[in-house]
Amino acid sequence: MLNEADFIIVGGGSAGCALAHRLSEDPQHRVVLLEAGPSSDRFWVKVPAGLTRILADPEINWLYSAESDPTLKGRRVIWHAGKMLGGGSSINGMVYIRGSRHDYDGWAANGCTGWSWDEVLPYFKRSERFEGPDSQSHGKHGFLGVAPLRIVHPLADAFIEACTQVGLRTIEEYCDGDLDGAFINYATQQNGQRCSTEHGYLRAAEGRPNLQVETGALVDRVLFDGHRACGVRYVRNGTVRDIRCRGEVIICAGTVQSPAILLRSGIGPGQQLQGFGIDVRVDAKEVGRNLHEHPSMPSMRLVNVPTYNVTKNPLRLGSEVLNYFLFRRGMLSTCSVHAMAHARSRPDLPYPDIKLQMLPLCLEPKTRALHKEYGITITINVTPPASRGEIRLRSSNPADHPSIDHRMYDHPSDLERMRAGHHFANRLFDAPALRKYVVGTLFPEKTVLSDTEWDDLLRQNSSIGFHAVGTCRMGSDESAVVDPSLRVRGVVGLRVADCSIMPLMPSCNTNAPAVMVGEKCADLVKQAAKVS
Ligand SMILES: Cc1cc2nc3c(=O)[nH]c(=O)nc-3n(C[C@H](O)[C@H](O)[C@H](O)COP(=O)(O)OP(=O)(O)OC[C@H]3O[C@@H](n4cnc5c(N)ncnc54)[C@H](O)[C@@H]3O)c2cc1C
Repeated sequence: MLNEADFIIVGGGSAGCALAHRLSEDPQHRVVLLEAGPSSDRFWVKVPAGLTRILADPEINWLYSAESDPTLKGRRVIWHAGKMLGGGSSINGMVYIRGSRHDYDGWAANGCTGWSWDEVLPYFKRSERFEGPDSQSHGKHGFLGVAPLRIVHPLADAFIEACTQVGLRTIEEYCDGDLDGAFINYATQQNGQRCSTEHGYLRAAEGRPNLQVETGALVDRVLFDGHRACGVRYVRNGTVRDIRCRGEVIICAGTVQSPAILLRSGIGPGQQLQGFGIDVRVDAKEVGRNLHEHPSMPSMRLVNVPTYNVTKNPLRLGSEVLNYFLFRRGMLSTCSVHAMAHARSRPDLPYPDIKLQMLPLCLEPKTRALHKEYGITITINVTPPASRGEIRLRSSNPADHPSIDHRMYDHPSDLERMRAGHHFANRLFDAPALRKYVVGTLFPEKTVLSDTEWDDLLRQNSSIGFHAVGTCRMGSDESAVVDPSLRVRGVVGLRVADCSIMPLMPSCNTNAPAVMVGEKCADLVKQAAKVS
């Protein structure tokens, strides 16, 4: 193992692997990537339909348990997060989506100079290796495999038609910054397999002598020489190790862990740090704050056509398995979301604030196992949510999971908009295109409820969308954690690059945006290295 590098990257997830690839393109740069988990090279990670198998594995999933949430009747929500190379891209639902023009123009208008839609779009395209037809909207030469779904369930087309029947537009190409309507989504995959950033970016950099990837390396904190970051302390196989850095340390440990590493390094709210006996290097009040996540609750119906509830028909399950292994086709080759839509909770809103995902399957409401009858799900998210939570330390020990204090429905508008989202889903199921397939209600059991009953049901059953952002907020103001070049305020030689820097959640799933952040960070670091 090297004990010195030009660039140390902490966390080999969606952003971290992209960054490691790009920084090591220059053979002059010695790059070390430290990842707490193992490689993602395992069978069920590669199979698109393998999600439920990998979510149950604590070796590759952080499986955080959030604090008891008073806005959810005291429930604790499990926060899944990839703990392996590829991070979230190795464990996620594989939906490919970039966000809306107004998301990023909003960032730029609020102090994130250089992050408007027109400025981030080239990074989305640069990252992408699109398997579909040539198009101005997509990149062909990147390392993140993106493909049209190998199989689109007929109910996805019915969902799109139902959306038009209740007044939404149909969008043919949703990667151009317009999400105001309904569309069939793409998947982050290549040749019928999941394309994580380990699979895409790291494999393509394999063999570079100037890139060293260390797995099983749990980073404790950043080391400093005065105000300059000069290395990283981490634990591997029970041994504490230090690695020194000539250039920069870049933290890419995700929305939960990046702020925790800053806090253990003495950068955060002074009082909290002192409480754990950590010397305060920079009293940065916002580290860990501004946590926001998609509230999420499904609406499920039983239907009269075969869906992916294959346990009803073991013969079909067998033929699907064969189809996948012989031809990489069929049900196992596809991500579970087949269509999406964005709608408004109120007609006067300038932009949609309800996100809907359609899945041609349904789960047992209590056990979350695949239901034995055929069904369809529309999952509803509020986007962006107005509620804010916080990440704090539980102790100064890196092995202790940080405390996730989410408070999902702290802001009343999130509950109101979630209710509106469910009313909208009910209208979709009642629209002629879908109504003819629906034979029963699965969850919620009743579709007509008073507002109080809805609120009760939502607090009792909502979970998260797994798109947390915001805990190392980027901005130009004094209290932002990082500036628009992703440099941590108050110190030198330290950046953060992952979902935690997003000041406001883009109105979408967050894997492609995280990769975009990694790509853009690489250019920022390379430019700075040229100047110095
Ligand atoms: C179950 C699930 C489903 C999802 N579905 C989708 C989807 O369909 N489409 C989509 O676009 N997005 C989806 N997402 C979200 C998306 O995958 C994540 O937002 C994205 O991967 C986050 O990227 P990141 O770079 O910010 O962090 P991550 O990818 O989480 O990377 C952080 C990395 O740092 C490592 N790390 C953390 N702490 C330390 C430490 N102390 N020392 C060393 N290493 C450390 C982690 O193990 C991890 O590998 C989903 C997420 C989940 C969990």
